[in-house]
Amino acid sequence: MAKPKPDAARRMTPLAQIMTDMIEADGPMPVDRFFALALGHREHGYYMGRDPFGRAGDFITAPEVSQMFGELIGIWCAAGWQMMDAPAEWNLIELGPGRGTLLADALRACSVMPGLRDSMTVHLVEMSPELRKMQGDTLKRAGVEPVWHDRLEDVPDAPSLIIANEFFDALPVRQIQKQAGRWHERVVGLGEADVLTFGLTAEPVPDALVPVWASGAEDGAIAELSPAREAAAKEIGRRITQHIGAALIIDYGHTHSGTGDTLQAIARQQFADVLARPGEADITSHVDFEALAGAVGTQGAKVYGPVTQGEFLVKMGLREREEMLRKRADARARIRLSKGAQRLVAGNQMGQLFKVLVATHPDMPKPAPFNVASDAPA
Ligand code: SAH
Repeated sequence: MAKPKPDAARRMTPLAQIMTDMIEADGPMPVDRFFALALGHREHGYYMGRDPFGRAGDFITAPEVSQMFGELIGIWCAAGWQMMDAPAEWNLIELGPGRGTLLADALRACSVMPGLRDSMTVHLVEMSPELRKMQGDTLKRAGVEPVWHDRLEDVPDAPSLIIANEFFDALPVRQIQKQAGRWHERVVGLGEADVLTFGLTAEPVPDALVPVWASGAEDGAIAELSPAREAAAKEIGRRITQHIGAALIIDYGHTHSGTGDTLQAIARQQFADVLARPGEADITSHVDFEALAGAVGTQGAKVYGPVTQGEFLVKMGLREREEMLRKRADARARIRLSKGAQRLVAGNQMGQLFKVLVATHPDMPKPAPFNVASDAPA
């Protein structure tokens, strides 16, 4: 009689099966490989065949919480375009645009600036065919025809404003862990009943890989490194220094580098086991803004912040915008506006954990909101 399959194996996702086969063939895979496959596997990757956003989805991002988020970014773009001296041709680039909501709201707000839209080409960096379709539909309604790319490197060079909201947290991280005084790579292998399980490589990693900030850590500590995030940040820095330009990077994470395991999975708006259902849960990790700022700045770009999302939005005029919209809103819409604003800026919601980094060409004047006096009410 055939042995009954263990429960966990029976409920394996198609991607978990593929990963299991890979591990059986090649041995345990580093965490960044697991992360990249879980999100971007051509057929079964989390982003490749679904719309994960919104109330019915797995998670809600700021542009889906309130139209004001994208509108204030539109105001940032209008100010940025003027600070670039209103180039006759320029690129508005968004990395990981989701449903296209942020850009549609931003374009509505910045279109009041004469000449801005006529001189602009919209470039989207997006790996998901499903989301590309949604972005196309959303932007068509906004009267824009974007050009899509797999990678930022493929976007033609020109004066650029670059926006990335919750893009960096989706780029893979490596993890190393200290054990008996040496750092080892954290890997995903097969445990009992062939269930995906974390482990460590037997050989320690080369000393040169261990960041200075991690060198004094205790045994058991985990440090996260992200060559993928640093490469994307460097490419942003290169673009805005070779041509005039500025970038706005928003994500959740920490201001200073430090040890800690921040790898997480989210499904249906709840935290889930990272290894349990690859391809069916969103996998992310917190963004190390110190590493990001360093990478953006390597090419000579000026880096500002990070500041908290709450501070950024209030300085960009959230309260004034809310007041304006309230005047034309009915009772239900007013409640939605104030709930949305609260969710975006409150310290116990998105206001504190989310950070905002701005970088510009070194010759550009101080960008918004860093040109607003720091004692402005937050
Ligand atoms: N900015 C949007 C969506 C954030 S989710 C919002 O705020 O709502 C992350 C987005 O980045 C998705 O659109 C996802 O498909 C895209 N993405 C993730 N990793 C990517 C990669 N390596 N290359 C290109 N796009 C990627």
